[in-house]
Amino acid sequence: MKDCIFCKIICGEVPSMKVYEDEHTLVFMDIAGDVDGHMLAVPKKHIRSIFDCDAETLHHLMDAVKRVSDHCTEKGGCDGVNLLNASGESAGQSVPHFHIHIIPRKKGDGIDAWPHFAGAAHDIAETYEQIRVK
Ligand code: 5GP
Ligand code: ZN
Repeated sequence: MKDCIFCKIICGEVPSMKVYEDEHTLVFMDIAGDVDGHMLAVPKKHIRSIFDCDAETLHHLMDAVKRVSDHCTEKGGCDGVNLLNASGESAGQSVPHFHIHIIPRKKGDGIDAWPHFAGAAHDIAETYEQIRVK
């Protein structure tokens, strides 16, 4: 897609530090500089979010995420990863091209990658009735 920064990275119009690439997926370094090893895995075709992603593309994307995660732990000196995704504006997605954040972790690194929620506004049973797949 013409105005999409990640599409520009995928086609090479905008430079990136490529970590892994195959026919369907690219994994590259996030420029945020917020945490060591922050990477983004993206499908090569322009897909906005999880909601628009077909099963095959999702499969390829997650295959690549696993490959890079395995590499981080086997050869990159890490022992864990956080995998994060925001799908939709309400979820905090800032770049509208589907991506999984990969954050390599080491025991005792002190990184707090887990969201701090303020506490549920509704009873669990009530929400369960609304969201469960019937
Ligand atoms: P989101 O907020 O949509 O989940 O994450 C978007 C991510 O894309 C952010 O972590 C941001 O740092 C990253 N990002 C935005 N623009 C660029 C760019 O031009 N190059 C790279 N490598 N990362 C980017
Ligand atoms: Zn795109």
